[in-house]
Formats: sequence, C-alpha cells, structure tokens
Amino acid sequence: MTTRRLYYDDAYEKEFEARVVYCEVLPPDLSAGITGTVWGLMLDRTAFYPTSGGQPNDLGKIGDANVLDVRDEGEEILHLVDRKPSAPDVMGCINWPRRFDHMQQHTGQHLLSAMFQERFGLPTVSFHLGAELCTIDLRGPEPTEKMLEGAERAANQVAFEDRPVNVRYGTADQLSRLGVRKEVERQGILRAIEIEAADLQPCGGTHVKSTGQIGIILVRRCTKVRQDWRVEFVCGGRAERLARHDFQLLRQAAEQMSCAPEDIVSAASRSIAERDASFKSLRAAQERLAEAEATLALQSAIPGANGFRIVSRIFEGVPAEYLGLFATAFTKSEKTIALLATADGGHVLFAQHASAGKDMNVALKEVLEKIGGKGGGTRDFARGKLSDSAKAQQALDAAVSLI
Ligand SMILES: [Zn+2]
Repeated sequence: MTTRRLYYDDAYEKEFEARVVYCEVLPPDLSAGITGTVWGLMLDRTAFYPTSGGQPNDLGKIGDANVLDVRDEGEEILHLVDRKPSAPDVMGCINWPRRFDHMQQHTGQHLLSAMFQERFGLPTVSFHLGAELCTIDLRGPEPTEKMLEGAERAANQVAFEDRPVNVRYGTADQLSRLGVRKEVERQGILRAIEIEAADLQPCGGTHVKSTGQIGIILVRRCTKVRQDWRVEFVCGGRAERLARHDFQLLRQAAEQMSCAPEDIVSAASRSIAERDASFKSLRAAQERLAEAEATLALQSAIPGANGFRIVSRIFEGVPAEYLGLFATAFTKSEKTIALLATADGGHVLFAQHASAGKDMNVALKEVLEKIGGKGGGTRDFARGKLSDSAKAQQALDAAVSLI
C-alpha cells in the first residue's frame, strides 16, 4: 500500500493523524546504531521525511513511540520506532527544529547550485546535508575565490528578495519545456521545486516556502574531491551559529595576542617574525656556547695511551640539537671522540674525528642493542634515542668500554 507523503504538498505539517497499516518487530541493525528492539511501522499517510536525495530523515514521535529512523522503501515509508503503538489510529509529530533546519539547508542548496550553474557554468553533481556542514560537489574548472564569493552574494540577493518557492508537478517533457535545471529520465509525474525566476529542479525533498526563510547563506571552504570541487556551505540557523563561533575563535585568538580582532593577521605575522628572530639568536648563542664548552673539554681531556681524547658527558637542560653542536666543535681536532647524551629525553650522540678510526654507527648500534633504543648514522657521526631516558649513564658507560 502506497504511503501518502504529506510533506510533498505541505512541508510545514508538523502534526498529523494516521492509521497503522503494518507493525512488526525488526532485527537489531548495528550499522544504523540500533541495538535494542525496534518495530518497523507503516502508516497510510505520513509527514515524516525519509533519508533520501542528500537530506537526512526526520525524527519525532508516533503516538508514544519515538521515531529512530525513517526509510524510503519505494512506494512506502518505513518508520523505525522504539515501541508498538497501542492503538491503530495514531498522532504523528515531527521534531520541527530539526526539520526546519533541513528545509533551510536544502532550499539554500537549490539556490546556491543555481547560482554556480547560471553565473559560472558549474553544475552540481551531488549534495550532502551533514550534521554540521552541507556540501555540494561542482563539476568543471576549479572555482576561484571570486566565484565562491560571487555565487554566495547572488544567492543571498535572491534570499533578500524573499521570492516564493513553489512545488510543481509535470512529466519530464513538461518540466523540460519549463527550463528544468536537471533532466530526469523517470516516467510519470515528477515533482519539481521552483524558486521564482531563479531555479527549477526535480526534487522530492522538503523546502521553505519563500527564500527569505533560508536566512543567510555562507559559503566556506572548497576542496578537490576526486574529479569534482566540494564546496562547504551553511544556511539560516547554522550560518548564525557558525558566524558566532567564528567570531568567538577570532576574539579568543586576539585576546591571546593582546590585539583587536581586526589586527589578528598582522599581530600573528609580527609574532612569527619575532619567533624566527629569537630562534636564530638562540641558535647562534647555543653555537657559541657549544664552541666554548668544547674548547674547555678539549683542554681538560687528557690524551690516553693511544693519543685519543675522549669526552663522555650527559648534558642537562639542553635540546637534542645541542649535542650535535658540541660534538661538531669537539671533533674538529684530530683523534677526538665525543660520547654524549641528554639528561632528559634519552638522546644520545656518538661522534669522532675521522683520524680516530673507530666506527660510531657500529658502536651506537651495539649500545642500543644492549640498553634499548633506536638510531643510526655514519662512521663518524651517529645519533639515537634510548627507550628509557633514565639509562643515559649506562649507555655512555657501555660506549666507553667499547671504544
Ligand atoms: Zn530539493
């Protein structure tokens, strides 16, 4: 039995009376997030919109049952409910804020798609109405920032003019003669949505009755998805919430930077430039310090019987890069070997002057094998990281005994 779809003719019908024609327990549907017992319910008529054409289903109540999902089953509409209605005649009531939000987004989509097509020759190949954002996929060359803005402005202009949104019925031929935006091959009478003097396209979804109810239309990012361009947008209540959220973010960022929101970009650029300059001067200071420490270490290192000067040291409060700076400075002199580690983080570095003739990479591998960790390098310069940073001393002791 065909379910009469009340939303086809009146998308504003929030409450309705209907008769139960079928009600049966369904198996749990984990993929739909339904774990408990649910009933599949069919009515002779319904205002509940089933998931289809990019628009999610309605929620609400039928009698005292909660509607968990609504599915399009061809001629019929299946309501998934959490209990069986107690009588054959029921009252249905849809969750209106959710539905109206869908109507705003969906009508906004028609309008935005029409503007992209009309102004820039970019047809919409798909539409998705998500929980947070909506998207359309455009086919053709990459939309420029100017095109995104142009389509947004044109769509908002039509919204400000508060033009009527009408439901039209006709065969594919009749709609084609009226200039329908998308040709359909389906037989019989089709439903199309007309935005007066702006758009006509076949659609079974729910829409607001005039463009003013869409509210503001905000176009957001555009990204490439396979061969198409995915444009994110939001309308009405969502646009209001997102604009507020964006401003809150901007204000918080400005507070952090101690500037006015409109100065955030220049403040961020300044801060990045300062950070880069500080980094450069810190690096230069670290290099000078490493040179000085290496010179002192060379002076105090007593050459062994074979003429080697070895330094084995754990550094506190320095970044891992400091080991490299120190090692480079120390091993400039002949027959030198540096076995270094940081007190925090478990960084180790073994380096030598080529004349020392050992293999630092092999030594490091052996130490890491014994103590635990990862790393590698060349014959003269190898670095790694211990799995347990508390074992730095053990690692250096092991290295000394190897060399
Ligand atoms: Zn539609």
